[in-house]
Amino acid sequence: MLKNNLGYPRIGEKRELKRACEDFWAGKIDEDRLVEVGRAIRLGNWALQKDLGIDLIPSNDFSFYDQVLDHSLMFGVEPARFEALRHYSALEKYFAMARGFQKEGYDIKALELTKWFDTNYHYLVPEFGPYQTFHLAQTKVIDEFLEAKAQGINTKPVLIGPISYLLLGKVKNADYRALDLLDRLLPVYQQLLTKLSELGADYVQIDEPFLAMDIGYIEKEAYRKAFHAIRKAVPNLKIILTTYFEGLENNTLAAVNLPVDVLHIDLIRGDLDAVLDRLNENTALSLGVIDGRNIWKTNYTKALQLVQRAAQKVGFDRLMLAPSCSLLHVPIDLDGEKALHPELKEWMAFAKQKLNELAELAEIVKGNTEALEENKKVFARREASELIHNPDVKRRLSESASTNLKRKSAFLDRLDAQNRLLQLPAFPTTTIGSFPQTKAIRALRRKWKKGEVSDLEYENELKRETAELIRWQEEIGLDVLVHGEFERNDMVEYFGELLSGFAFTENGWVQSYGSRCVKPPIIFGDVERKRAMTVNWAKYAQSLTNRPVKGMLTGPITIMKWSFVRNDQAEHETRKQIALAIRDEVLDLEEAGIRIIQIDEAAYREALPLRNEKRAAYIEMATEAFCLASSGVRDETQIHTHMCYSDFNSIVSKIEQMDADVITIETSRSQMALLEAFGKHRYPNEIGPGVYDIHSPRVPSVNEMVSLLEKASEVIPKERLWVNPDCGLKTRAWPETEQALRNMVDAAKQMRN
Ligand code: GLN
Ligand code: ZN
Repeated sequence: MLKNNLGYPRIGEKRELKRACEDFWAGKIDEDRLVEVGRAIRLGNWALQKDLGIDLIPSNDFSFYDQVLDHSLMFGVEPARFEALRHYSALEKYFAMARGFQKEGYDIKALELTKWFDTNYHYLVPEFGPYQTFHLAQTKVIDEFLEAKAQGINTKPVLIGPISYLLLGKVKNADYRALDLLDRLLPVYQQLLTKLSELGADYVQIDEPFLAMDIGYIEKEAYRKAFHAIRKAVPNLKIILTTYFEGLENNTLAAVNLPVDVLHIDLIRGDLDAVLDRLNENTALSLGVIDGRNIWKTNYTKALQLVQRAAQKVGFDRLMLAPSCSLLHVPIDLDGEKALHPELKEWMAFAKQKLNELAELAEIVKGNTEALEENKKVFARREASELIHNPDVKRRLSESASTNLKRKSAFLDRLDAQNRLLQLPAFPTTTIGSFPQTKAIRALRRKWKKGEVSDLEYENELKRETAELIRWQEEIGLDVLVHGEFERNDMVEYFGELLSGFAFTENGWVQSYGSRCVKPPIIFGDVERKRAMTVNWAKYAQSLTNRPVKGMLTGPITIMKWSFVRNDQAEHETRKQIALAIRDEVLDLEEAGIRIIQIDEAAYREALPLRNEKRAAYIEMATEAFCLASSGVRDETQIHTHMCYSDFNSIVSKIEQMDADVITIETSRSQMALLEAFGKHRYPNEIGPGVYDIHSPRVPSVNEMVSLLEKASEVIPKERLWVNPDCGLKTRAWPETEQALRNMVDAAKQMRN
């Protein structure tokens, strides 16, 4: 069985690419130097994979910023506004498309950035304009193939397939659908693949993740057409049609009938048998049995069962072994982690270790039982580990089955009690929680973590910041205040560090977009709140003012979505454990005299499953977790939630079931269009539609915000409206924040009059 790797992280083991890119942008290194860093990473990755015995080593999985943008440049898909930059180098223009270009008299907006399916990776959205055409404008994929070949490695070039490429894009200023462009795009694929075949490529990987999504007849027809055209152009090039992130399900028949040599399926998320039953005899199968989305070791016993089941049906020689998807979504190397608990470390595998698993698994299939036995032992130790199991948490969880998930009274009764207690004006103003984290605060935290600043000093400094912020919020006239979250580096990490069952890596970086990387916490065991996590900060802030200060918590859905989650129990169990910990915190905050408690579910929408049929179950469980966390309070305690991102159309009725007294959402960029869903559905509770976009330094005028609020009051009764920005202000600078919030308060005052 050939060992087939789909893609390897390209940021570099020590984030060399990040540093080099940022240095290049800052003018500290020249283009040659940056190109050299990229080349060194590619050569290193290829050599590593060769050493590990990978048979199908990917090329063109490298990118200076984003692989989708690479394809746009390759196909000549370049919006007209970038033409002005023709005097700049190709690489500079590339970065301009990725990041915008605001210097030397230019002010050109970047391409839109959005999430790559349900990952935390962001890609640059191809922008198709009027009279869009395609041509082979760049030869990156060929160059990198030849670069590897010169090292004696015949790689498997990776391309995003034509259908997925088009579906990832957006048509702007023209009236057609992206797929209508297929006929124009296909000749470029034909040309490119012919060239690769002529240059000696044996295999090519064509990624078509949309084949594992909900698609209809038109898309399936497009697939048929595209792959027949490709087949015709390169009858001898072996095509690996690659799908991931979901199973093929209702697209299985369409997929197996495409004229390709190998079909890759994600067996972490998808089903094997339906594919086996329908696979035709000329197609081989690449089995994605190693989880490319998580950091746990592969259970060889289970993987082996899948492989054997497949082999029974189609024979070993028609099978390949593979990770479920590109390894882009996991950190690079576990070996470098010195601080992780050794027991924990034994259960984990990062990208490099996963390739090694591929090799071991191939050996096991051949009959080498040693690695299999060792793996069984690891899993037995993990299952029995005291690190994971906390009987108190398990007991609490089973008792929680009888917890009442509903608030004590219905919303309108609670509202009465809350109004009496809070005495807020109409159109109450508030913010989402965080305020600018200045360089000074970040530097202080770094020093404190290194032990260079004492706990007391750190706390006093942050208290000073908090006190100043409370004073300032009072001065500008905000109604509901926040403490500012200065003590938090990150809204998930902060809680992870205070809860048991979480671990943190030193170097477990995963690319998020461009040079930006994130280091997700790892939830490995039962989650328990050891002590109150936010009460002191909330109490301190509240002691400084008579106005209500919101308690600020991160909800279970968001904590899970932005972490690597244990896979040895159902996710819902883990979610409930976290929800119970938050519930306790909520009650402690209430006890401490906090009248409003916000539970952020920033990632609620983002965590929605890719496939429609899985959504209902997710929503139900997510609602249950939120209610478990929030329902314990008294009527007069007001529960807020905040959700980022857009498009609530299909889920408003579900959000209603969460029964938060107030929800704040991101709506300003869509000019309140998002609110319509809430209006149409007659969402009963209170809403704070964000009236300004915190993702940009731009200061909105009073009039602008007034007109947004007027628009909002057309769909939502005005006595239910709150006035707030559309997300936290952490990444903003002070001057613009100050002005924008003053304007916002003025806008609310105008509305009251
Ligand atoms: N309370 C958080 C903050 O203001 C919410 C952040 C978010 O929604 N991403 O930073
Ligand atoms: Zn947000």
